[in-house]
Amino acid sequence: MSLPAATGFLAAVREGDESLPLAALATAGLRDDTREEFEGRTVFSGLVHSGAPDGARARGRGTSLVLAGELYNREELRSLLPSGDPVGDAELVLALFERYDLHAFRLLNGRFAILLHAGPRVLLATDHAGSVPLYVSVLPGRVTAATEAKALRGVAAGRALRAGRAVRRLPGVHQVPAGTVLETSLGSGTCTAHRTWAPPLQRRILPEADAVDAVRESLRRAVRARSGQAAPLVVLSGGIDSSSVAALAALGTDGPIDTVSMGTDVADEFPQSRLVAEHLGTAHREITVTTADLLRRLPHAVWAAESLDPDIIEYLLPLTALYLRLEGPGRRILTGYGADIPLGGMHREDRLPALDSALAHDMATYDGLNEMTPVLSGISGHWSTHPYWDREVLDLLVTLESGLKRRYGQDKWVLRAAMGDLLPSQTVLRPKLGVHEGSGATSSFSRLLTGAGIEPSRVHQAKRLVVQELFDAVVVAGRHPDEVETAQAVQSVADRLGHRVGTGS
Ligand code: AMP
Ligand code: MG
Repeated sequence: MSLPAATGFLAAVREGDESLPLAALATAGLRDDTREEFEGRTVFSGLVHSGAPDGARARGRGTSLVLAGELYNREELRSLLPSGDPVGDAELVLALFERYDLHAFRLLNGRFAILLHAGPRVLLATDHAGSVPLYVSVLPGRVTAATEAKALRGVAAGRALRAGRAVRRLPGVHQVPAGTVLETSLGSGTCTAHRTWAPPLQRRILPEADAVDAVRESLRRAVRARSGQAAPLVVLSGGIDSSSVAALAALGTDGPIDTVSMGTDVADEFPQSRLVAEHLGTAHREITVTTADLLRRLPHAVWAAESLDPDIIEYLLPLTALYLRLEGPGRRILTGYGADIPLGGMHREDRLPALDSALAHDMATYDGLNEMTPVLSGISGHWSTHPYWDREVLDLLVTLESGLKRRYGQDKWVLRAAMGDLLPSQTVLRPKLGVHEGSGATSSFSRLLTGAGIEPSRVHQAKRLVVQELFDAVVVAGRHPDEVETAQAVQSVADRLGHRVGTGS
């Protein structure tokens, strides 16, 4: 099985057997809707899957569980249980729950969202990074949850939850925080949040060589755990982060892996990624998207990421456009996303206090941005996963003392040193370029707005408004992004800001 058993779900637990929601998800795949009765409760689960939905469900004595995503420390977890027991990830988590109750979730290293029903308790769990977004609506006698907010639009307004983040214009819909189990009591609808992971605050001191070995080994394991049976596909920019993932994936696979690089008519990183692809002997593809096409995909990026942050949407836009161009059966896609956060890679000067401050800030604020959402690639039936945000890799990278991150005038030194012998030296030394910069997404979005008459000083504000407008269309109103036009949203924002196109006023 090359993809997880399920890549998204909509699930509900009800007292009695009321009618249940059947809303659509943006995540593409086969759909399997199941309804089960448990001692006066009805449990409904609608899964998006790729052929074997049973692996995403488990059932015990008065308990049931549905899981979208996958686990990366299965062997470790299985060692805690009598041998020969659970096969699928859902069964594994339910067996661990029977042994550890909600503390089972502290043991998991994975990319998942889970709904677990145990008698009158309903637990909603996210992975340490909240990398699979999970939304919930709670009323006495009814808990409804989904991996996409839009799937809860038809559900009766839930009660306000202090433990979750409210979603714009979807009354009573909340996002479950990262690294959290939200425990709800079905009868009363009361909720308690339990943290299962928090970004480490301490820093570790290691000799250079030990730090380098530890980084290489933990990243190797994370790539291996994510690679599946068939050769994986790596989205490759030719920067150190994705090139390292490609190098380790190639090392762990018989035969060539696949790599793909995207560019636009204004900017690309093709030469840099080609250098790496040739060095590793990958089956490499280049995909060019015009900036006009790129900007037309803004509604799709908002539809998939369900984020209101214009910086995040702009950043995710090139990858959304790339994934939409990857046809064929669902692939397992590895990215180099997120190395910069624990390694302070956006930090371009030598002072360590500033690096540690940036890192502490980024680790305290990533939650809810949905940058890692699998729905981005899920809208074209693929499954993406991010080795740098593996729980073990992340714990290691965050805790390394900052002098190992910034060293000898280089950013991300420890990673560059760890990968030195697997990549061309040019790649190892290459400075950071974000995908929104490398593809020209930022500049073309800005030009679209100034072209509509918006003053340069108000471009960022206008981007925020455009994203909000798109969010209201594709999430709140549930429209399909193919029917929503970026140009129209831009025009409406330009009008609102008092600058009509063509008047130059
Ligand atoms: P970045 O902002 O450059 O760190 O991008 C995050 C991840 O997206 C990278 O590690 C790559 O896996 C992927 N990526 C970035 N730029 C490109 C590109 N031009 N083509 C393909 N994948 C890319
Ligand atoms: Mg890059």
